[in-house]
Amino acid sequence: MTSSLPTPSSTSTAPLYTLQSTSESGQSLFSSSSSEPIPRGTLLFPDSPLFTLPQNARSIEDVQGRVAKLGKDQQRKFFELSNCKKGEEDVGPVMGIFKTNVLPAGPEESAIFPLASRLNHSCIPNCEHVFHPSSNTIQIRTLSDIPPNTELSISYLSTRLLLPSFQRRIHLLRSFNFLCVCSACEGVPTSDFVEDLQAEEAQARESTSDKNRSEIASLKEAIDTLFPTSPALAYSQSLDLLDLCEEEGLMLEGAFARATLAMVLIMWKGEVELAEKWVESAWREFGVARGVEGEDARRWGRWVGKVGEHPRWGCLGKWEFGGAKKGDGEGEGSA
Ligand SMILES: [Zn+2]
Repeated sequence: MTSSLPTPSSTSTAPLYTLQSTSESGQSLFSSSSSEPIPRGTLLFPDSPLFTLPQNARSIEDVQGRVAKLGKDQQRKFFELSNCKKGEEDVGPVMGIFKTNVLPAGPEESAIFPLASRLNHSCIPNCEHVFHPSSNTIQIRTLSDIPPNTELSISYLSTRLLLPSFQRRIHLLRSFNFLCVCSACEGVPTSDFVEDLQAEEAQARESTSDKNRSEIASLKEAIDTLFPTSPALAYSQSLDLLDLCEEEGLMLEGAFARATLAMVLIMWKGEVELAEKWVESAWREFGVARGVEGEDARRWGRWVGKVGEHPRWGCLGKWEFGGAKKGDGEGEGSA
């Protein structure tokens, strides 16, 4: 691999973030007011868990047992975290804090982090979190250039991020007890928002953002099935997918769209240069979102400059390139 990623790093030693009290959510993280905008792809901080639990062992007894084993200082850090379940029946403070702050720590574990757990949610997150088992830390990276004194956010929604805003809000309200007012949700009125909003009514209120996200979800599904039989169509739909992700500000989804474009071109042998371009683009964007040492960036980095060595290179046979009418290679501007 000859190319190298720009690795934005602050030249000053001032911290890139501050903890600020907000009326809604206790303390949350903001970009520092004294620094320049933080460039996308910056590692804001790594954070070690207070404790980790297997995904399938998160009963009250499990959680209380782990908290009881913490040292005094770590227990204090745990009880300083916010609790969105206050006042709910059958949810004591320990379980309330756990449910409010738990984050994934790899595919089979979840964990509580003293700092990362304070990150609030946005449906257009400006940060991404990835757990690194080798260092036993969660790493928080910026997905976009972040101006000074801006709230730092991650997504709490995983794949639900592509649902319409009323469904996202219902889920967030039920799980975390807050009404999302991020810019993707703001088209939906908050004053008369009710949990049992009728589907038709919700449909009528569908915003441009809702339509885009629903289109992103359908394109992803369609492309998966189109891949083997109609690579030209899969390619052109993947370009549409990337455009929509960028319009929505969903940078991680955009990285996955680039990976799809790369994969279509790898399997659909014929356009080496274009394949190289998308492989590099996928590698670069995963590096920005999840770190150049992350699993996704490493997976794509292996093939930068050598797509022909990919085990699936040309597995669909040599197709005549040109079926993809719509803007071949366009949409890569920011890569
Ligand atoms: Zn939202």
